[in-house]
Amino acid sequence: MTNAFSETPVEYLKGVGPGRAKILSKELRIKTFGDLLLHYPFRYVDRTRFSTINELTPDSPQVQLKGLLIKVEEMGFKTSKRLVAVLKDDTGLLELVWFKGISYVKPKLQIGREYLAFGKPSMFQMKLNMVHPDMELFSKAGSEASPALEPVYPSTEKLSERGLNSKGIGKLTKALVFLMKGKVNNVLPDELRGQYNLLSREESLRQLHLPQSAELLRRAINRMKFEEFFFIQLMLLRQKNTQQQKLKGIPFLKVGDLFHAFYKHHISFELTGAQKRVIKEIRNDMGSNQQMNRLLQGDVGSGKTMVALLCSLIAMGNGYQVALMAPTETLASQHAESIGNDLNGLEVKTALLTGSTKAKQRKQMLEQLAAGEIRLLIGTHALLEDRVVFKNLGLVIIDEQHRFGVAQRARLWKKNTVSPHVLVMTATPIPRTLAMTLYGDLDVSVIDEMPPGRKPVKTIHRKDEHRLSVFQFMREQIAEGRQVYVVYPLIKESEKMDYKDLMDGYESISRSFPLPDYRVSIVHGQMKAANKAYEMQQFVSGQTQIMVATTVIEVGVNVPNASVMVVESAERFGLSQLHQLRGRVGRGTDQAFCILMTGNKLSAESRKRIKTMVGTTDGFKIAEADLELRGPGDLSGTQQSGLLDFKIADLTKDANILTYARKAALELLEQDPGLQQSKHQATSRHLAAVMNERPEDWSRIS
Ligand code: ADP
Ligand code: MG
Repeated sequence: MTNAFSETPVEYLKGVGPGRAKILSKELRIKTFGDLLLHYPFRYVDRTRFSTINELTPDSPQVQLKGLLIKVEEMGFKTSKRLVAVLKDDTGLLELVWFKGISYVKPKLQIGREYLAFGKPSMFQMKLNMVHPDMELFSKAGSEASPALEPVYPSTEKLSERGLNSKGIGKLTKALVFLMKGKVNNVLPDELRGQYNLLSREESLRQLHLPQSAELLRRAINRMKFEEFFFIQLMLLRQKNTQQQKLKGIPFLKVGDLFHAFYKHHISFELTGAQKRVIKEIRNDMGSNQQMNRLLQGDVGSGKTMVALLCSLIAMGNGYQVALMAPTETLASQHAESIGNDLNGLEVKTALLTGSTKAKQRKQMLEQLAAGEIRLLIGTHALLEDRVVFKNLGLVIIDEQHRFGVAQRARLWKKNTVSPHVLVMTATPIPRTLAMTLYGDLDVSVIDEMPPGRKPVKTIHRKDEHRLSVFQFMREQIAEGRQVYVVYPLIKESEKMDYKDLMDGYESISRSFPLPDYRVSIVHGQMKAANKAYEMQQFVSGQTQIMVATTVIEVGVNVPNASVMVVESAERFGLSQLHQLRGRVGRGTDQAFCILMTGNKLSAESRKRIKTMVGTTDGFKIAEADLELRGPGDLSGTQQSGLLDFKIADLTKDANILTYARKAALELLEQDPGLQQSKHQATSRHLAAVMNERPEDWSRIS
């Protein structure tokens, strides 16, 4: 909505002025008429529905009461001074209390008249009351003054002090709604509005601020949600299109001998159907003239590494080098080792480059890399450094993508004159709605099938008092030759305490599992990389049976012989973290177990998390539950994305609208890729404005 009206500074709205304009801008970033119109109510009070006093409980939400005021009295002195009123309806009496603004409220309250009281009941000295309710004189003809559905606006304390609480803001938006008549551009193409039966933009804004009926309000909300999703999708899809036009890729014309040799003689298992399908998708991308930008999603243990390796072989078979980047040194070393094993007997030189690679070794490595002798370079962030120069980098694979920022990815990209193909792998299942938004500009492949013979991990919830039986169970598993993880939380704010918990736990386990029968490893973030690697290696090779660790082992570590994952203080972990941790066991064919240890007192949310984990091993179901519990902005790896900031749409609830909006955006771009037709001018302009608001997203590379 970019036109003179919407760009008018809010200062010029009657009732605002320079002072209020300043705090509106500061507190809510409302600068223009357009901003104010998009300052949506967060809920509506139904003025036609009343609660009765006898049905109130301390848990009641905000309620509306209608009753007679039978007492108004100031009580107490100085700090205990308060205004107390009593409201009476057909079912009982309720005390209303004010501690602040007494001189303002008191003159408005008249004994013997009927009022609407709006607020949330609370409990005081075993009695229900209502603190600081909104009061309004009830008048039977009052329906015009207060509409049936009254909008409630977000506000702040500072704004309220200047008279701009929800009601004050409501007055402004109402004035604005009258002014906007005939001045709002339709930003959605007309044909879409017909196809999806959408209200006009102006009508939607009017209904949002001054709803005439619940039905019209619902349609208005859906219309604005649709619009919001639609423009984000347009942005992402256009970005994807221009990228594909602009960026020529390196066509890998053949599968190559390396791939065939490996496939015939080096794999000890049959690929799953999903792995085969995904490899075909990637192969098609890499065989075309366009640069691949693909996200590979697959639950923990679904076999992404094998897919990565096979794709690398295609690239190398075409004469190109490959970079494989992992988020931690442990993971990178593990990849290097297992890929090294897999490639044993094939003529492929690989190398591992991390922060702890010695200078001399590094120098030699970089020379060999620049000469093209090293064909597969595996490593950590160290790969990003400018001195790491390839001869002809053709494929970049990024494992566990959510640990890397966008800017870091971009740096790998530039290591060849023709951009290499990019495959991003993630084990964090992302709900459909999020994937469509966060990765709307990437192609997505999904491995939705586990290697055969996997038994789902049995997940059990145990309280601290069951610790002895948990230890007993660990002994039984170890007696059968299995290994056990015990994981402790490590959260930044309380690092010291967490460290103590971890060490206490380590001690107690060392005592309960004494030498020489048992050996215990420990790994945590404060250890030197070399020590960490050593301890990890001890466990991987089976020298130790128990691994006590913090979440540093969360991602990617592969010890198929480990059969038990004990998570201490499980209530402190997020769902996706728990799922990742659980994915560390059950990687072979034997039954594996995940034991979630918690204290006795659990918050409702923790209980829901534990219940979800016990109830399912399906990563996508867990991701959906996570999204519902935490909201999109909090999901791991998505923290800073402005793509998830919506004014009215809600990724957790509006999957259907998003699906339609994406479809509509695709169809529009098919018809008019550059949005150049005259009937799409308003849409094109609005898109530019939306992109302007989200510059960081526009500059995303992959
Ligand atoms: P992730 O997707 O978590 O990275 P990995 O690639 O580490 O999973 O694979 C987990 C384990 O499954 C590895 O030990 C790997 O060798 C094995 N694996 C991969 N694909 C198959 C398959 N098709 N059949 C049997 N085992 C497989
Ligand atoms: Mg992996």
